[in-house]
Amino acid sequence: MEDKILVTRPSMPPFEEYVNEIKSLWDSHWITNMGTYHQQLEEKLKNYLEVPSLSLMVNGHMGLELAIQAFDFPEGSEIITTPFTFISTTHAIVRNRLKPVFCDIKQSDGTIDETKIEDLITENTVAILPVHVYGNVCNVDEIQRIADKYNLKVIYDAAHAFGIKYNGKGIGNYGDASIFSFHATKVFNTIEGGAVTFSDVKLYDKLYNLKNFGIRGEELVVSIGANAKMNEFSAIMGLCNLKHIDETIKAREKRCSYYNEKISELKDIHLFNKIDNVVTNYAYYPIIVDNKTDGISRDGLYKYLRSKEIYSRKYFYPITADQACFKNKYRNNQLDNARELSDKILVLPFYEDIQKSEMDRVIDGIYEYVNIGRD
Ligand SMILES: *Cc1c(COP(=O)(O)O)cnc(C)c1O
Repeated sequence: MEDKILVTRPSMPPFEEYVNEIKSLWDSHWITNMGTYHQQLEEKLKNYLEVPSLSLMVNGHMGLELAIQAFDFPEGSEIITTPFTFISTTHAIVRNRLKPVFCDIKQSDGTIDETKIEDLITENTVAILPVHVYGNVCNVDEIQRIADKYNLKVIYDAAHAFGIKYNGKGIGNYGDASIFSFHATKVFNTIEGGAVTFSDVKLYDKLYNLKNFGIRGEELVVSIGANAKMNEFSAIMGLCNLKHIDETIKAREKRCSYYNEKISELKDIHLFNKIDNVVTNYAYYPIIVDNKTDGISRDGLYKYLRSKEIYSRKYFYPITADQACFKNKYRNNQLDNARELSDKILVLPFYEDIQKSEMDRVIDGIYEYVNIGRD
């Protein structure tokens, strides 16, 4: 049996670089609570992402939850969002006692269909929470126009969008806040981790209180908060990985081109359209499989690849609105495009150091399936 090829594999810095850095943690015994590495990483990421303000978090999900909480929306308010995302996005809304209002997406790039947002706005709407899914940039200009017209906040789930630029600006500059995930499987990782970026500098203190129990002095707690701090081991992992991030993204670009060459020849398999004025990060390699009644299907391809020890993933199937925990709980909006794309999408194995031989196995598997291997 051949080796397993998994959908992703974390980028690691050279072992010695990490070990050298953590030596000083042993000497200082200061391993969490906004230590020097936490401060350094916040500064370096602000520069790299070209954003005015940034707050590190223990993970992307807590970043989302606390960013939403920081706006103090009245309980039960509605947030217009996409169901074509990782479950975290919807959980973060609901766990804040707010109502997700699901808006359909565009099949051309998987992002929220901005032309359908206005129809969903009610007097209870407080915010729009779109996702730059796979790093495909939402129509940020139109979304902002709508938000301004109806006085809504815009919070982006930018978990997939580390380092992306749109119209020459870091993606974290759009909207009122953006949340990045530094989970092991993302383009940039701190093992677990995340960050919130924002333009209103007053949010920094608010997020600081929310992520550290509201503690402002040995005997002073000014507000109610959770614990969502990033520890120093993670901050060091981030500093080490950040040194190599340009190489990481270049390596991904090269591998993406290799896949593109072979996969663009297949007539039943499609790729997302490229969006103009975007510097991308090659976070994922999603393909769209035409489901034919008498032929190939996404599920068939998924199974065929598995039989060859190739583990692609159905990100994102089912859509979050159809998950057991949310089904039939919220307004039953039309989500045809989201469901259709969710039935066609498959994310192929793709990571910084995926070998050519491994990509060849994936490509061969797809060609075999498309030509002969259907069930
Ligand atoms: C990964 C991810 C998150 C959550 O980030 P964690 O760091 O894993 O908590 C949220 N939204 C999307 C779209 C993600 O892919």
